[in-house]
Amino acid sequence: MAFIAFIFGTVVGSFVNVLIYRLPKGISVVAPPSHCPACGHRLEPMDLVPLLSYLWLGHKCRYCCAPVSWRYFGVEALTGAVFALVYYRFGATVDAGLLCVLFACLIAAFFTDVDQYIIPDSLNAAGLIIGFARAVAGPDAFSTRWLSEPGVQPVTVLGALAGAAVLPGLLYLMILLGNVMFRRQIAEQESQWANEGILEEGERLDAMGMGDVKLAAVMGANLGIAGGLVALLTGVFIGAVFGLALKAMKRLEGHAIPFGPALIIGFSVSVFVGGDVIRWYLNLLAGG
Ligand SMILES: [Zn+2]
Repeated sequence: MAFIAFIFGTVVGSFVNVLIYRLPKGISVVAPPSHCPACGHRLEPMDLVPLLSYLWLGHKCRYCCAPVSWRYFGVEALTGAVFALVYYRFGATVDAGLLCVLFACLIAAFFTDVDQYIIPDSLNAAGLIIGFARAVAGPDAFSTRWLSEPGVQPVTVLGALAGAAVLPGLLYLMILLGNVMFRRQIAEQESQWANEGILEEGERLDAMGMGDVKLAAVMGANLGIAGGLVALLTGVFIGAVFGLALKAMKRLEGHAIPFGPALIIGFSVSVFVGGDVIRWYLNLLAGG
């Protein structure tokens, strides 16, 4: 069964590739049908088999021989692996199905943010709707297996509302704090980028973008306040470590770091082991 979830995930992953390519450009995601970005040739079913097409066509377009990025293969494999993991962890439940759709959106957001520093509003909106759909469906709609297990529980509608309201506020406060703490660096970057024409006249740089704040609402709606906090803190920690590592390697000059991917990794950690973390922390508080 986990294998079927994997195969299904690779098919969805091939659509996730379409989202990554088309959403930031504002192209419809359903029409026109897929074509090679290099030669424009319409892709036949044979070119669209997840994972396998990439391998048997030798990573290039069948019509013009333009190389095809390994990323297409990677996104399909990753989506398949995540679907299998969700099935393995939560079983074949309504909630697991909704989680899979959510992860497909988040994988798309991960790569649009890496590529273009954009998380399309449509992806955040979908994530928010899924969060409330999961809350409305409620814990009773799922197998009881995971109620006794360490993942974060599906939250109540009230919990989803509270999470969606509180988490973006917290992240926004962190951004304000970051803007104060890194005032000097941000000012330097702003003047450098203004000189290079990367920033418009008078345009300001934030430590993080508003897309990240909306993403925090998605995390809150899906995890509630406690699970959302685990996701947020894990994400900020990963983002900070990654940022410092890049700085140490002097790879940061002239590059902003997209923060969305760190938040998405934090979200994944919370979904799969957040319950463990919360229980460990509560035990710590109780002195146990
Ligand atoms: Zn081509």
